[in-house]
Amino acid sequence: MRVFDGHNDVLSRVLAAGAGAMEGFLDGDGAGHLDLPRAARGGLAGACFAVFTAAPPHDAYDDRAHLEPVPHERALREGLAQVALLQRMERASGGRLRIARRVDELTESSPSAATGTRDGDGLAAVLHLEGAEPIGPGLDELEVLHAAGLRSLGLVWSRRNAFATGVPFGFPGSPDQGPGLTDAGRALVRACGELGIVIDVSHLNERGFWEVAELSAAPLVASHSGAHVLCASPRNLTDEQLRAIGERRGLVGINFFVGFLRADGKDDADTPLTLIAEHAAHVAQVAGPACVALGSDFDGATMPAALGDVTGLPALLDTLRGAGFTEAELEGVAAGNWRRVFAETWAA
Ligand code: ZN
Repeated sequence: MRVFDGHNDVLSRVLAAGAGAMEGFLDGDGAGHLDLPRAARGGLAGACFAVFTAAPPHDAYDDRAHLEPVPHERALREGLAQVALLQRMERASGGRLRIARRVDELTESSPSAATGTRDGDGLAAVLHLEGAEPIGPGLDELEVLHAAGLRSLGLVWSRRNAFATGVPFGFPGSPDQGPGLTDAGRALVRACGELGIVIDVSHLNERGFWEVAELSAAPLVASHSGAHVLCASPRNLTDEQLRAIGERRGLVGINFFVGFLRADGKDDADTPLTLIAEHAAHVAQVAGPACVALGSDFDGATMPAALGDVTGLPALLDTLRGAGFTEAELEGVAAGNWRRVFAETWAA
C-alpha cells in the first residue's frame, strides 16, 4: 500500500544545507527524514512539499522572535528560491520526481530507463505554500505560483501576516487566539477558490478556521494537525472543528510531530506509533474515516523514534491496522482521502 503524505519541509532543509544537497536528496544521502531512494523504500507515492519562508533559528522559539511579521520582499525572495529548487529537482530527477498539477499526475511518476528505477518508485510532488507572506495585496504572485504548480496554500504559519493570524505553540493552549481573516485574507481565499487551490487550515487560528469554512465551498483541509482532546496544543483541532471538517468532506493529515501527539506536549522522540493511531482513530470517530489522512511534518519536526524516517511508513500502516482500521479505510488514510480532496478542489 503506497502513501500520500500531506506535509514535509524538504525544500527548506535542502536549501539551507547548501551546495550538493539537492543531488544528495535525489541520490539518497540519508540526510533528514526523506530522500528519493528512501521514499521509494517507504512506499511514498506522493507528498506536499512546503514552501516555508523565514524559518526561525531553533532557539528563537523561546524568545518568540518567530512571531514577528516577515517582510513581503524577503518572503518572496526566499519562497521563489524554494519553488525554483523543486523545479530543478524535477528536472534533475530523471522522471523519479514529478510536480503534480492534475489529479491524474498524483499516481506514479513514469519509470525512467535512464536511471533504471522500477515502475511505481516515482514521487508526485504537490507544491504547497505554508504562510502566504510571498503573496502581495494584488495577488499577482498567486497567479505566477499557480502557473508554477502551486495547488495548496496555508494562509499563515504560526504568526500573523497580512491575511490572517496563526496560532503560537505555547502548551497547553487553545486554537482560539487572535483575530480572524483580514480583507486581504478573504480575497485570497476567494482567489484560491477560483484557481482550484486547496486552502490549508493547519497553523490558522480558530476564528480564521470558521471564516474559511464560511467563505469556501471546498473540502475543509488541515494538512498536518492532530486532535486537541488528546494533546492540548493550539496547533491541534477541537472536536467542534473536526465535526465541521467531517461535514465539509475535508480531511486531517495526522501530524507525526511528537509534541502534537503526546498528552504532555513534550518534544520527546520516545513516543509510540500507537499514539499516531489514537489521533487517527479519534478523527475517524468524530469526523469520519474518510477524513483521516497523513501529514508527517518530515524534515520539520521530531519524529517518534519507532518511525525514524520515511522508511517507517509500512510500520505505521501496520500500527493503524492493529488499531482497527479496515483495509478499505486504510487505503483512504494512506492516500485515497488526499486524492479525493484534490479531485474535488483542483480545477479540471
Ligand atoms: Zn507546519
